[in-house]
Amino acid sequence: MLNFISFLINGIQPLLIPICFVIAWTVIILVFMNLWAATKDTIKTAQKMHKIPCHNCQFFTKNYRLKCTVNPYIANTEEAIGCKDYQSN
Ligand code: SF4
Repeated sequence: MLNFISFLINGIQPLLIPICFVIAWTVIILVFMNLWAATKDTIKTAQKMHKIPCHNCQFFTKNYRLKCTVNPYIANTEEAIGCKDYQSN
């Protein structure tokens, strides 16, 4: 039995280095692809959030209990993008 295991280990030993090389680079590439995707999502979300006009609107109260006197349910949300009641300060 030990002879068989020794034969098996000696048989696959030349293949271990290329297999580990491929696995290691695959993991590294997947990590960088995930980081790239997360960065792109973050930038996309940040750009969308900067389109919310409420902070420059005269109806925005800066009070967390009543953020907007006209549209309190959509103030400071993505639904406020393109708000028809927007009035610049
Ligand atoms: S009126 Fe519209 S743009 Fe102005 S604060 Fe309210 S939700 Fe935001």
